[in-house]
Amino acid sequence: MYSGIFDSHAHYDDERFDPDREEVIASLTENGVCNVIDIGCDLETSQKASALAQRYPFFYAAVGYHPHEASSFNEEDFSEIKAMLRHPKVVALGEIGLDYHYDLSPREKQIEVFDFQLKVAEELDVPIIIHTREATQDTLNLLQKHNCRGVVHCYSGSAETAKILVRLGYYIGFTGVITFPNARKIVEACDIVPPDRILLETDCPYMAPVPFRGKRCWSPMIEKTAERVAQIKGMEPQTLIDTAQENTMRLFGIQSAQF
Ligand SMILES: [Zn+2]
Repeated sequence: MYSGIFDSHAHYDDERFDPDREEVIASLTENGVCNVIDIGCDLETSQKASALAQRYPFFYAAVGYHPHEASSFNEEDFSEIKAMLRHPKVVALGEIGLDYHYDLSPREKQIEVFDFQLKVAEELDVPIIIHTREATQDTLNLLQKHNCRGVVHCYSGSAETAKILVRLGYYIGFTGVITFPNARKIVEACDIVPPDRILLETDCPYMAPVPFRGKRCWSPMIEKTAERVAQIKGMEPQTLIDTAQENTMRLFGIQSAQF
């Protein structure tokens, strides 16, 4: 078993954890997990993420409006999100971005809300967690317009785009998707990302790696993702896990890992 797993992107606030959330979270640390960042997608889930971070010493939170929720965005609710960002255990604005695969909110609205949140991140100097799917060019345009720092989570783009993101200073987050047999493009991208820019994440309860595909995911499953990334980078899995932990703490300004 590995130690020091930092899950940089999880949704333990999700309803799929309603039946046994406490037990699941209580058994994380005995399964090699040292820290978790729980990510909000709108006001309600951001409040839940923030509550988890205040309750569990090894949890942190990110708060923001996911592109799927862009239609429900309003500045009044967002002022509450902004207020939450002042809490020391709320470490990022996210997840924010663009999703042209599902198009659950009109693209114009997604762009407007992403742009607005990037401006806030820049003003407050907080890192961002980016969700982008089938929206590479618009995402890059907006990132280039603002001077932010952060991670592109659950990376699914090309090696070429990864190179641009790394050059812009961004970190790249890999989930269990990299273990899927059809993940060739993601493997190529991982190949060019320097080890000091790699974050590990589950995106749980989604994206369980092989051989747990389709099951409810949780943070200890990161070891399968770590083994695959380590293989691509020619590193020992534990070294990769330790490097990703350091990267996560550096990006989000977290001082020391807690157990
Ligand atoms: Zn997510």
